[in-house]
Amino acid sequence: MSSTIYTIDHFAEIIQAKSFISNPELKVTRLVIDSRSVIDPESSLFFALSSKRDGHEYLEDAYANGIRSFVISDKAYLEKFRDANILLVENVLLALQTLAIAHRDQYDLQVLAITGSNGKTVVKEWLYQLLAADFNIVRSPRSFNSQIGVPLSVWNITEEHTLGIFEAGISKENEMEALQKIIKPGIGILTNLGEAHDEGFASPKDKLLEKLKLFKDAEVFIYAPEYTLGLPVSELPGQRKFSWSTKQKADLQISFIEPIEGRNYVRAIFKGAEIECLIPFSDRASVENGIICWATLLSMGYSPEEADARLEKLTRVGMRLELKNGINQCSVIDDSYSADISSLAIALDFLNLQNQHPKKTLILSDLHETGKDQTELYTEIASLLKQKNLNRLIGIGPHISASAELFEMESSFFESTPDFIDHFPAVHFNNETILVKGARKFEFERISKLITQKVHDTVLEIDLNALAGNLQFYRNKLKPKVKIMAMVKAFSYGSGSFEIANVLQYHKVDYLAVAYTDEGVALRKGGITLPIMVMSPEPSAFDAIIKYQLEPEIYNLDILNSFISFLPADTYEYPVHLKVNTGMNRLGFEEKDLSELLETINGSRKVKVVSVFSHLVASEDEHHDAFTKLQIQRFNTFAQKISEGLDYKFIWHISNTSGITRHPEAQFDMVRIGIGLYGYDGGIPKNRGLQAAVVLKTTVTQVIEVEPNETIGYGRNGIMPNGGRTATVKIGYADGYNRRFGKGTGKMLVNGKLVPTIGSICMDMCMLDVTGLSVKPGDEVIVFNGELTIADLAEQIGTIPYEILTNISQRVKRVYFYE
Ligand SMILES: *Cc1c(COP(=O)(O)O)cnc(C)c1O
Repeated sequence: MSSTIYTIDHFAEIIQAKSFISNPELKVTRLVIDSRSVIDPESSLFFALSSKRDGHEYLEDAYANGIRSFVISDKAYLEKFRDANILLVENVLLALQTLAIAHRDQYDLQVLAITGSNGKTVVKEWLYQLLAADFNIVRSPRSFNSQIGVPLSVWNITEEHTLGIFEAGISKENEMEALQKIIKPGIGILTNLGEAHDEGFASPKDKLLEKLKLFKDAEVFIYAPEYTLGLPVSELPGQRKFSWSTKQKADLQISFIEPIEGRNYVRAIFKGAEIECLIPFSDRASVENGIICWATLLSMGYSPEEADARLEKLTRVGMRLELKNGINQCSVIDDSYSADISSLAIALDFLNLQNQHPKKTLILSDLHETGKDQTELYTEIASLLKQKNLNRLIGIGPHISASAELFEMESSFFESTPDFIDHFPAVHFNNETILVKGARKFEFERISKLITQKVHDTVLEIDLNALAGNLQFYRNKLKPKVKIMAMVKAFSYGSGSFEIANVLQYHKVDYLAVAYTDEGVALRKGGITLPIMVMSPEPSAFDAIIKYQLEPEIYNLDILNSFISFLPADTYEYPVHLKVNTGMNRLGFEEKDLSELLETINGSRKVKVVSVFSHLVASEDEHHDAFTKLQIQRFNTFAQKISEGLDYKFIWHISNTSGITRHPEAQFDMVRIGIGLYGYDGGIPKNRGLQAAVVLKTTVTQVIEVEPNETIGYGRNGIMPNGGRTATVKIGYADGYNRRFGKGTGKMLVNGKLVPTIGSICMDMCMLDVTGLSVKPGDEVIVFNGELTIADLAEQIGTIPYEILTNISQRVKRVYFYE
């Protein structure tokens, strides 16, 4: 996005590449790492970065999208694109980083960098809100904080910027040095130190020391001593330190935090005097992030009064794209957070990932982009929209309206948000995916409200990034070429259908599996093209199986014979999957069936065995490891015999989630991941390395002051001998909150505090004991999240996390987030 222009020769020199240049005139302003998201191909330089897949595999795509400049490391590709500029290097990532370092070194601006386990993006966005009045700020787009994200962020620095705010995240040792050279921060902020990525380091202290390398040349270091693990101050970075603490002596020593009406009033001692501020949020994480921002403003020399005035105006950072159900069978993606081209490109990618509707519409406000004139800006947007195959544009605002003729697709324009709302009844939306993207001042939340279905106050939020992160977590454990089948049965463990499948398809899993045919049909109707295995292919649904190209699991001779006879006579090699019984004793072929099985299959070319599999009964439990080994051995023997009886190869698979973590020898050709995708794995202590992908939330409807000896709820089961306070919340057993959670067994988080249920759980509601807490109607209540986990809930009522997830009823609306 940089307006700095380099020639291709420049680049070659900086990264010391062997260059093969056919068009020396080509000017490059953009760095691209994903062949799918290209804004302006002519001026883009594509980096063939390899992670799990070889980045060179995407060169053809990038070329087809119009890119003509490439950085590669594999000579084999030199000949492929004769009219392109190719820079050949040893290490493509290093080249990207070297380029960022050279770019950064041209500018002498103040730079603030943030690292820590949590809160980096929120603190970055809040500092942006707090400091935007005084600086022209360049910042990391969204949470671009990795070895790749940081160089791309720093690349955005231009001459006009007076302050940079960047976040840096690491997941293993020796990663920070590179990021330090790229960012070169003058002010360093450590948000906190949690357990994330512990597995990448020998100890928490090693992780801390690695993080602190970011600040080795910083003038100022802002931190809380609670998170520096007792390291002596002399060993902390920064010529000057600025500490904050709620527990000990510090430069900003917090003495008092009180929640009032959804906000938090904070008092502290600073330079010997008492000062105060109001943080306009109620949850604990926001208060801590707010205090970090407070410390930063004070350390930068803002007066306590000025800092307070600015903090009070902080607004929630909607870092996430929300996918919701809309009116008239539409899906709505809500993104009114950052209104610039790079975030628009990300949102359009997410829009394109939605296959469930044929048509894609964008509602877009005027954008503001530093250093670009109107025509340049909207020409660029128009070409982006064309490239992303957008079908319809609704432009809102005077500037985009004035550029109307630049857009080639179906379009309409309105001067302002109220103007659009006035005309709303005449604008038609039907069976399409609508992306709503506007600058904050356009208040597009008013538009989202009109086009989304009203969400009942209890929602299940699914974090699609966490899901993708968990997928990657397991992918990293696989041997090369091992395929992944994602289990999306029971509405993807209660989390959705095509919404989850779309993400998995985008992230290139190899197979999906559902329990019943109609689940598979729903996925096909939602635009899913991956192969789909159906585990219980009831004969009455054979018709639909064939019509929608679903692949049945065949678990005995009866079902095999009836499927074969159902298939039309001219069918050739219809894909089927054979399940063998190795100890679950539920479904599956036995050794005694072998000869008849082989005879039947070899006797009919109507079907082809694409895979043979079995299921582990206790892969998560070390007490049963001997049995697991036996199952693996039985499977091996059985599959071997089938293989000897067939004249073609098939996929072997037996591992589920915990099988992948605990029995690497059982990966065979494919693994089947289920619950691990949602952030739970019975085989990993505390789910280390996984992220909770689902959060169940509800709200307080009423607060009641209960007199002594009154009772609460049905059957007078809730007793408060001394009286107290209850909060009624909108979730009951019909939503999937089991009745066994009643009478104090279940707990929920209200404003960050864990509180028990009181009395019996009702059908649509239940009551919480909030005695002594400040709670009011409308307050958010967490039923489970990453802190109060599905494993905790399962333990409370003596079940397993799988049941907690899949019991959440369909009337609880699902909302999807994507960063
Ligand atoms: C549900 C299921 C899985 C996935 O199990 P997880 O423990 O959730 O990973 C794998 N294989 C089969 C046959 C299943 O039914």
